[in-house]
Amino acid sequence: MTLPYGIFSYGISSPRVGVLVTRNDFPGNAFPDQAILDLEVIGLLGHFDGLPLDPAVFAKPILNDFMALGKPIWTAVRQRLIDLLSQPDSPLEAIREQAFIHQSRATMHLPVRVGDYTDFYAGIEHARNVGKMFRPDGDPLLPNYRHMPIAYHGRASSIVVSGTPIRRPSGQSLGADGQPQFGPSKSLDIELELGLIIGQKSTLGEPVSIDKAEDYIFGIVLFNDWSARDIQRWEYQPLGPFLGKNFGSSISAWVVPFEAFEPFRVTGETQEPTPLPYLQQTSADLTRPAHFDINLEVELNGSVVSQTNARHLYWSFAQMIAHHTVNGCNLCVGDILATGTISGPEPGTYGSFLELTWSGKNPISLPDGTSRTFLQDGDVVTLRGRAGDVELGEVSGKIV
Ligand code: MN
Repeated sequence: MTLPYGIFSYGISSPRVGVLVTRNDFPGNAFPDQAILDLEVIGLLGHFDGLPLDPAVFAKPILNDFMALGKPIWTAVRQRLIDLLSQPDSPLEAIREQAFIHQSRATMHLPVRVGDYTDFYAGIEHARNVGKMFRPDGDPLLPNYRHMPIAYHGRASSIVVSGTPIRRPSGQSLGADGQPQFGPSKSLDIELELGLIIGQKSTLGEPVSIDKAEDYIFGIVLFNDWSARDIQRWEYQPLGPFLGKNFGSSISAWVVPFEAFEPFRVTGETQEPTPLPYLQQTSADLTRPAHFDINLEVELNGSVVSQTNARHLYWSFAQMIAHHTVNGCNLCVGDILATGTISGPEPGTYGSFLELTWSGKNPISLPDGTSRTFLQDGDVVTLRGRAGDVELGEVSGKIV
C-alpha cells in the first residue's frame, strides 16, 4: 500500500489531512477508483485510540504538526491505517459515507508549510551533461563533484502544489550581440527531481550522522524545479542559481511515506574516490543499499518524452542529509531537500529539456506534429514516479 498523505478540502469543509486509498488497498470500497480517507473523521470516531497522539493534528491545513510527532508515530499511524483497511469486516465499511470522499470532489492544497528548500545536484549524468554544455573545455565534472553532494539554498516562498499554473518569468539574459537584455524567458525548462520532506528537526550546531539521517525523512514527493536557462546562464557565476530558479517549483499534492520505499533499496553507482568518513555508511544495518529503484517519467502535453530512474543519483538521500548538517546547520520540520535533476546515461532518459534537446540544438517532435526545444505557453508538463506498486503523487503544471 502506498497510502500517501495530503491536505484536502471539499464543499465548505476546511482543509485537513487525508490519505489516498486505492481500490486494491480497500476491497470493501465501492468507489470506482481512488478515494480520500478523512483522518480527522476517523480520529474523532476513535480509530486512533491507544496511539499517543491527539487526532486534532489531522484537522490542520498542513502536515507539519503530524510530522513533528516523530518517526515512531508516523510508523504507528501507517500501521493502524493498514490494519483498518485490510482487516476482514473493516469497521471503515460501516462509516464509508462519512470517512471517504471521492477524489474528484476534493481540492488539494500544498501539503506542508515549507521551511527551507535546498536543491542538490546529486544526479551525476545531469551534472556531466550540463558541464559539457556550459563549460565545453575540460572535464565536465568540477573537481569537487565526487567528494561532496553539491547544493544551493533555494526559495521556499514560491513552492506550489501540483496543478498550479506557472507564469513565464521575465529577466535578464545575454543577447546574441553580447549585451544584456530584458524580457520573458525564451528557454523555460523543467527539472525532474525527488523532494525529501523533512519531518524531524535537528539541533543547531549538531551534525546529523549518516547512520541516523534517514530517520529525518517523513516522505517523498515529485519535484519540478522549473528553470529559465537563459536567465540562469547569465546570472549563475559566481554565486549560483537565483532568478532563473526561484520563480516557482512544483511538488506533488500527495506525500508518500518514506517507509513505503523500503523494499526498493538498490545499490548506487560505486563512489570513487571513496568519500570522506562522514559520508560513509558504517553501522551494521546501514550497510544496506541507500539508493532507491524508482521509475520516473516526464510527460509533455500527454506524451512521454523521457523515462529514467532515481538509481542514477550519485549521492544517496542519507549522504545529502549528513552533508547538509555536517557544519552544524539544523533541519526543521517542513524543510524540503530536492535531489537535483535525475537523468540517465543516454538520450531519452534525461530529466530536463536542456539535455533532451541538447541546449535547443535537437528539437523533440511531438505526436501533434509540433516540435519543442524549450516550453511554450500552454504546455503542460507532468512528472510521474513509481516503484513496484508504490506510486508517487504526480506533479503537473501549465505554462501561462
Ligand atoms: Mn534543480
